[in-house]
Amino acid sequence: MRTIVWFRGKDLRVTDHEPLMRGSTTGEVIPLLVLEDSYFGSGDRSATDESQGSRGKRPPHRLQFFLDAVTALRSDLEAIGSTLVTVKGRATEVVPRLAREWNADAVFAQAAVEPGSRRRDDVVAAALGERFRLFGGETVHPPGTLRTQAGRPYGVFSPFAKSWRREVAQVPAVGTPARLSRVPDNLVAIRNPIPDLVELGLERNPAILRAGSSQADARLRRFLKDAGPAYKADRDQMGIDGTSRLSADLKFGTIAPRRVWLEARAAIGETAGGMSFENELIWREFSYSTLWDVPTILTTPFQSDFEGFPWRDDENGWQAWVDGLTGYPVVDASARQLRAEGYVHNRARMVSASFLTKDLMIDFRRGERHYFHYLTDGDLAQNTAGWQWTAGCGCDPQPYFRIFNPVSQGERFDPNGDYVRKWLPELRGMPSEFIHHPWDAPDSVLRGAKVRLGDTYPHPIVDHSVARERFLETATRHLKRSPGSQSAPLRLPMD
Ligand SMILES: Cc1cc2nc3c(=O)[nH]c(=O)nc-3n(C[C@H](O)[C@H](O)[C@H](O)COP(=O)(O)OP(=O)(O)OC[C@H]3O[C@@H](n4cnc5c(N)ncnc54)[C@H](O)[C@@H]3O)c2cc1C
Repeated sequence: MRTIVWFRGKDLRVTDHEPLMRGSTTGEVIPLLVLEDSYFGSGDRSATDESQGSRGKRPPHRLQFFLDAVTALRSDLEAIGSTLVTVKGRATEVVPRLAREWNADAVFAQAAVEPGSRRRDDVVAAALGERFRLFGGETVHPPGTLRTQAGRPYGVFSPFAKSWRREVAQVPAVGTPARLSRVPDNLVAIRNPIPDLVELGLERNPAILRAGSSQADARLRRFLKDAGPAYKADRDQMGIDGTSRLSADLKFGTIAPRRVWLEARAAIGETAGGMSFENELIWREFSYSTLWDVPTILTTPFQSDFEGFPWRDDENGWQAWVDGLTGYPVVDASARQLRAEGYVHNRARMVSASFLTKDLMIDFRRGERHYFHYLTDGDLAQNTAGWQWTAGCGCDPQPYFRIFNPVSQGERFDPNGDYVRKWLPELRGMPSEFIHHPWDAPDSVLRGAKVRLGDTYPHPIVDHSVARERFLETATRHLKRSPGSQSAPLRLPMD
């Protein structure tokens, strides 16, 4: 039997890849990856969700990681006797055509959650019929399967997590095929090269994490050994490496989420750090499940009463936020970190997203697209969930009346100012006491730190306490809720 194993970009690994393992046990395998224009931020905008709207601009950091991960996948396949056939085109046309030309008995792939990818798979399924089979692997537990007693998707995290912990089976990971059949030369000959960054008009950025399964494995090992046990306490501290940094690996599937979960359970499962880490992995499962059940969250707020919210047009505020020049150090550090290394600490993502949507009252979708463009781990399910949660309009959201105070968040989660100093060289000389609110520093301190407010570093572009009141007043009026009420109307698909 000849099986095409079709890699699609969120599954770039040979270990714990069920379609590859199943294919290898039934005979000959031909690993295929279709180089769709949409991966590169060009071409047909409807092909995949990566290309939706302004999300489609060429994402510099993610592309570097993706191309390196594809190259690493090809080497990993070569190490077990096979290779990767990369073919340019539209998957909906290329996959059925190659299945015919190559006389494939089956096409196996990892099932996708993003709505555009599901539409793509429907087209391929219509062309190939039963020869096309999808397997799990993007999440630990299949999305869209956990239901409330009333048979509805969960709109709140805690009961989802409880049900996830009850239902998820600790089946072992599937492992790596020992050896694969050799891909015939005439099939290898048709492949198009994996594009390089220069050809795409991008420069290599050494600050981006190195991609590929061996890198992901090393990150997991380092985390479980060093940071894992203290994760609960350290994960919020912006100035230390207290987290796993596995988000881009999970996004591109260079490591299987099931494996991360199983290995973390085995190594640190009983510690407070292990439990807290599992909780974050379940947040990821929740985001994916929500996108599966409510694909409209890619464009509209999950909480329907946020529709038509009077977001402000504020070009100056937007530009200051993008450039890291708002005058609020944590917000500015996160903006610079995003553009420099395609990553932002989770706590800083929350503070920054809150500042944009609440202090500046700029539409969360604009921030979400900016993040999606620059994040190496930029992921539709996760990014949409993170932005809507922070704005107060998502699934199990941060209540709209809880507004992050960028100064006290900095004092609590970056007490020595290490995070700020790393990303804002102009504040490097500020003593920790004033680093999160330099405007309160006496002139002598500012002089000593070589900081000239309004010159080397901006004055705050808004007064947080005034901006907070403005948001609360607008939101209370629009949502017709009072800040004391936590309840919010949920919109689920069957409503
Ligand atoms: C505004 C905003 C945007 C975000 N955009 C993305 C995104 O595009 N892609 C992305 O992967 N994550 C996103 N997140 C979630 C989170 O910030 C990152 O997953 C995390 O910072 C990645 O670092 P890490 O791998 O070291 O995480 P760790 O703390 O080591 O956590 C392990 C894994 O658990 C998952 N996880 C951790 N925190 C969260 C969370 N709060 N919500 C959901 N899953 C979580 C991730 O898959 C992560 O890799 C966003 C959060 C916010 C507030």
